[in-house]
Amino acid sequence: MSFPLYEKDQKTLSKLQNLRFFPLAVTGGKGSYVTAEDGRKLLDLSASWGAASLGHGHPAYVAAITAAASNPAGASILSAASAPAIRLGERLLALTAGAGERRVWLGHSGSDANETVARAVVAATGRRRLMSFTGAYHGGTAGSMAVSGHSAQEGSDKADGLTLVPFPDPYRPFADDPSGAALLDQIEELLAGPCPGEETAAFFIEPIQSDGGLIVPPPGFFKRLAEICARYGILTVSDEVKVGMGRTGRLHCYMHEDFTPDIVVCGKGLGGGVPISAVIGPARILDFAVCFSMQTLHGNAICCGAAHAVLDTIENEKLIDNAATIGARLLSSLEALKEKHAEIGEVRGRGLAIGVELVTDRATKEPAKELAAKVVYRAFELGLVVYYVGMNSNVLELTPPLTLSAAEADEAVAIISQAISDAAAGRV
Ligand code: PLP
Repeated sequence: MSFPLYEKDQKTLSKLQNLRFFPLAVTGGKGSYVTAEDGRKLLDLSASWGAASLGHGHPAYVAAITAAASNPAGASILSAASAPAIRLGERLLALTAGAGERRVWLGHSGSDANETVARAVVAATGRRRLMSFTGAYHGGTAGSMAVSGHSAQEGSDKADGLTLVPFPDPYRPFADDPSGAALLDQIEELLAGPCPGEETAAFFIEPIQSDGGLIVPPPGFFKRLAEICARYGILTVSDEVKVGMGRTGRLHCYMHEDFTPDIVVCGKGLGGGVPISAVIGPARILDFAVCFSMQTLHGNAICCGAAHAVLDTIENEKLIDNAATIGARLLSSLEALKEKHAEIGEVRGRGLAIGVELVTDRATKEPAKELAAKVVYRAFELGLVVYYVGMNSNVLELTPPLTLSAAEADEAVAIISQAISDAAAGRV
């Protein structure tokens, strides 16, 4: 891995300019709404890319952060050895299945967590090879980009022994294989031949590929993949950074599939907006993480206090059930919009992780990239925050707060419908 050269920076810069979705400067927020600088209230269907799991300004969350910062025992942001960090580790272990001696490593972001895992699995196993999926986004640091396969990071250096394979996408199947069975056969062939399984340390997966287009894999795919990996002693790493922590109607998204990953990576929604991530996995691997990924503020009391408040509130307010119920309502209302809008190619998702893929033609499935950007902008004008994702930037991604109400879900669908009509008619 080397640092990017100046010419690559030029490419990166033009991509960054494309990421300017609309001119929003948030000054505050309450519940599912944010307030813009001009005083407008907008319904937030992104929740900062899934991070604001409890919405904005949840009283229990604000109280927990305030308490951690004004602790009567003396305000301290002591890291690593803080009591809240140790309790958080114990709590995450209890909530996550796994065998043998295990550890929890705490970080600041999904990126540092995935980078740490990538380094730890190689160091601990002595195997140089890694696998992940085309379209995968595991972060924005050099080491997490090195195991990612997203087009937005084209030109970034990949880990030396990385093999990317297509993600099983039932809507745009690789080689006419909506069940992913042929893809699994190809992965087996790779591991038996050119990418020897015995030399492969880990396979990074997203149980729903989020930035790659909010793609829900075919049922049973990951169970079979995990079986293949187990035969070679390859560790499965479930990157739950965007779709974990209750968002899909289960605590961890992998729980929808009948398999247990070796390593689970949590971020975003775990902190509800403050920077914290967590890796849960075998001690024999994560002991290496501690060796070379020690950062000053890992496990500080304020971020851990916030994470405890998130877990408490998820439990007290039954937010996993809410994500499942309101998510199902959103999904079916968006599905119904297909009758009105030929531009909607597919609606898919689980719980409150939903993608609406826009196409220029349902038969050819040509991605409607320009339309998606216009819909997002028009929705902003109409009072809704939603972004697009995907390798073709044509999928509206809905990752609202887990506290979203039925009325707010209905309001969002009405605005999305209006935004599609307006954008398609050129009223933007
Ligand atoms: N992993 C996944 C699946 C993500 O969606 C993201 C961010 O979008 C990351 C990792 C990186 O997390 P962070 O932005 O907190 O570094």
